[in-house]
Parts: sequence; C-alpha cells; structure tokens
Amino acid sequence: MSAPAGKAEPRPVAVPFVDLRPCTEAIRAGLLTDLAELLDSGAFVNGPAVEAFEREFAEACGRRFAVGTASGLDALTIGLRALGLEAQDEVVVPALTFVATFEAVVHAGGRVVVADVRDDDACLDPAAAAAVAGPRTRFLLPVHLYGQMADMRTLGELAARHGLQVLEDACQAHGAERDGLVAGGAGAAAAFSFYPAKNLGAMGDAGALVLDDEEVAATARALREHGQTSTYHSEHVGLTSRLDTFQALVLRRKLPLLGRWNDERAAAAAFYGEALREVGDLRLPAAASGALHVWHLYTVRTADPTGLAAFLAARGIGTKRHYPEPPHLAPAFAHLGHRPGSFPVAEAIARETLSLPLFPGISEQQLQAVVDGVREFFSRG
Ligand SMILES: *Cc1c(COP(=O)(O)O)cnc(C)c1O
Repeated sequence: MSAPAGKAEPRPVAVPFVDLRPCTEAIRAGLLTDLAELLDSGAFVNGPAVEAFEREFAEACGRRFAVGTASGLDALTIGLRALGLEAQDEVVVPALTFVATFEAVVHAGGRVVVADVRDDDACLDPAAAAAVAGPRTRFLLPVHLYGQMADMRTLGELAARHGLQVLEDACQAHGAERDGLVAGGAGAAAAFSFYPAKNLGAMGDAGALVLDDEEVAATARALREHGQTSTYHSEHVGLTSRLDTFQALVLRRKLPLLGRWNDERAAAAAFYGEALREVGDLRLPAAASGALHVWHLYTVRTADPTGLAAFLAARGIGTKRHYPEPPHLAPAFAHLGHRPGSFPVAEAIARETLSLPLFPGISEQQLQAVVDGVREFFSRG
C-alpha cells in the first residue's frame, strides 16, 4: 500500500532471505554465449564442459579428481558406496544437519549412528563421535555446517585410531578452511552440493564428489551412470546421476567468482557481528580460531526465534530456520529410536536458531534494515 500523497513516510527496505540475482547478473553475458554454443552442439549430457569443470573444481579443493553428480545427496551416497561401504556398516553423523546427510547413509545401505554436535561450532563433536564408534563403525560423516568446517584435525585423529574412513559433507562450505585444511580436502573424499543457494550454486540441482584415489574415482564415475565401467557393461547397480552439461557451464562461469562472493558474505557477517553485539538475548555465530568461515548462513540463537521471525516478516524481512527438526526426530528416521533429549546440544540449537538474510550483493541499507528490525524487536520490552 502506498502512503498518502504528500506524506514523506520512508519506504521500508524489503530484504529477501536470499536473492540470487546479483550472482546471476555477474555471469549473464558469458553464460548466454555458452548457452548459444550448447544449443548449437546439441550435446546436453557429459562432454568437455563437464570434464573442464571437474578439473577446475578438483584443483580448487586441492584434489586429484572431481566427479560431477546430479545433486549433493547423490554425491554423498555415491561417495559412501565408492569408498566401500557394505550393507549395515555404521556411519557416524552429526545430530544437527540437513536431512540429506542421514538419507545418504540409508540410500547407500548403511546404518545411521548419531552423535551430538558441539555448542560452539554446531559441528560433529569429536568426543561424542568417539563415544558412539563401535566395532561395526566404518565411517565418519562430519558436516561443515553453516559454512564453517568441523574440527577435522581431531576427527581425523579419531578416524585413524579407530580405522574409520572420513567422508566430508562439504555441501555448505565451498572455500572454507580450518587449521590448515580446506573443505573438501580433509577426508578420504568430500561431497558438495551446487543447489542454487549454496555458496557455489548452479541454476538447478547439481553436486560433486572430490577425492584423490583413482580407483575410488572410477567407481564413483561408474555409479553415477548405471554402474557402467564401459558402454553397456555394468559392474554395479548404479544411478542416473550425471552433472548436467548446462549446470557445468554455469558452474565454470561462477567458480572464479567464489572467493569474491565469500568475501562479500564475510563482510556482511562482520556487519551483523558488530551491529548486533549484546542485543537482547542473541547469541551470534563466530568463526573458530584458525577457521576461515564462508558464511553460507548467518545463524543467531535466541529464546524466541519464531517470534523474532514473525516480527521481521511483518517488516518485509525474510528469515529461515536451520533446522527446526533435527533429523533424528523426523518421522522418516523414527526407526533409529531416538527421543527428544537424545542429543541435547543439537536440540537446543534447533529450538533457538534463526538465520538472517545474507547473500553476495546484499546492500548496507538492507543489512541496516535487518539490524534495525532485530533491535526494535528486543527493545519493545
Ligand atoms: C544442501 C545440502 C545437502 C544436499 O544437497 P542437495 O544438492 O540438495 O541434494 C547435503 N548436506 C547438507 C549439509 C546440505 O546443506
């Protein structure tokens, strides 16, 4: 509704939770050229663009190989299978994550074993993981949540002690680092998602597995394409999970800009960190010492996240909660037999969490509008 004529009401600044248009605009012209060539070639599956992106992305992760897939979930599933997961092998996952981490274990034929997260970084707690690792445990599947790597040094030592393989869920952490390790370079293999809103996002679904072992890479390539090791010769029961050629073109255009976009995310996070210090009962996220956080999400904790979300929504400010339902309490995973209280740290974060708008290209005016809204919510008394 417009204000009555003559009355100089300042127009409220709308702030969507995420706006992908700035990143799209940055590659529009180049992509349209690529698209014209793609249409002329008619080669919509596989081809040189996919291979080129795989080379470039592997190099960005400090890895020998990348295997493009149709999604992050498929990269996780294929990763577990290619690394040799056998039926009923146990995989330790953190209690706070996107549900895909749990789903991948089930799709690969393994058993989900849940361990709580740490209060400070919201990632898999190495002590909790050690406590649940038993004789049938074969894998650790830590998640680099919200853009910050899990404590991979400590988890790596734990894995070595127990003879476990580590697959990283790096779906939220393109470009992150911690203690001299890079996201995607710290386990036996790592899975990435290129869902549009991820730090490196396609224009549809896409993912990749990165790793160094040539044989595991060959198995992963077979699994994404009907288990075929050569044309019409299937060694495994596989999937149709190739990386679309069009998505490879998008990702090749975007990869060189990832560092700049992550810097923009960090600048926005620093703005919030400064402006929201000691506001209400807010607990602000922070980078661990020795960590390069890439701020996939800016998640605050507060006693009434849904009240704050509704207050902001009324001012045209979008928020989201990551994640209100920890996967161990989802009906889909009722068979694991967990109850409220099973993983108290993850459940406390799930109750209190709210993610504020943050994306490359968010303006200072938009950040200020969010800050003003949050401050007003807490000053109403
Ligand atoms: C996005 C995401 C996935 C799954 O990615 P899709 O591409 O949507 O399948 C897995 N794990 C985490 C932590 C994610 O954020």
